[in-house]
Amino acid sequence: MFCIQCEQSNKGGCSVKIGSCGKTDDVADLQDVLLRVMLGVSTFAHRAAQKGARDAEVDAFVPNAWFTTLTNVNFDEGRFLDLIADALEIRARAANLAEAAGADLSNLPQPAVWEPGVTREDLLASAPKAGIQKLLDRDGPTVNGLRALILYGLKGCAAYAEHARVLGSEADAVSAAFHEIAAFLATDPTDVDSLVGQSLKVGEVNLKVMELLDAGNTGRFGHPEVTHVRMTPKAGKCLLVSGHDLGDLARQSRRRQLVILKALPRAA
Ligand code: SF4
Repeated sequence: MFCIQCEQSNKGGCSVKIGSCGKTDDVADLQDVLLRVMLGVSTFAHRAAQKGARDAEVDAFVPNAWFTTLTNVNFDEGRFLDLIADALEIRARAANLAEAAGADLSNLPQPAVWEPGVTREDLLASAPKAGIQKLLDRDGPTVNGLRALILYGLKGCAAYAEHARVLGSEADAVSAAFHEIAAFLATDPTDVDSLVGQSLKVGEVNLKVMELLDAGNTGRFGHPEVTHVRMTPKAGKCLLVSGHDLGDLARQSRRRQLVILKALPRAA
């Protein structure tokens, strides 16, 4: 494990068996592999988009896959093994899309053609080729830091894009911009000016994603209003739901209502 993703680490990064957040080294390595494959997915999706082709299934998979690698989102090793297998299939799907659209498929970067293996052992053995440690040693902290800025910025965009998508709010332009920046990152770029320029583009995309999320939430639940709430504690269990999970709560409430309705005795 070599992870410099967040401020929970008190040593400027985690490189031990278990990170400060509780992420194991195996999960961290599998996340690196997943993200490397995802850069390949966006490489093909971007080239297809340049020919006017897109695939809704590819676009929907991308934010979800990236989102899982954010701090504290998912530590389930089995889930990452599944996600990597799915990502390899999605990458093949995006490659077919690009080919069918007549896109230029020359000079593909390593994430577009990399085969990390299939089994858990294969994937963990491949992880050092996907981690940022190797490129840090090669390119130094400035270039690597700028690449990390883009990588982590895209993760943030993906998180909000996934929340918006769950609420039914998506935009082709946002997916296209995400793919373009991720395709740039797939080339392991070293030019500082280009890296700064793409970092600023991440900020632009994120603003659009926040608009999507706002439209998704207010379109479904209305605009927030000032209201009175009880401030005194009450004994018993509770659920804490953040604003991003209102859609999940609404869905679960409907399911729960259905379960209750089914459990009720039929009227005579
Ligand atoms: S995400 Fe976890 S492993 Fe990575 S730097 Fe933060 S605390 Fe450490």
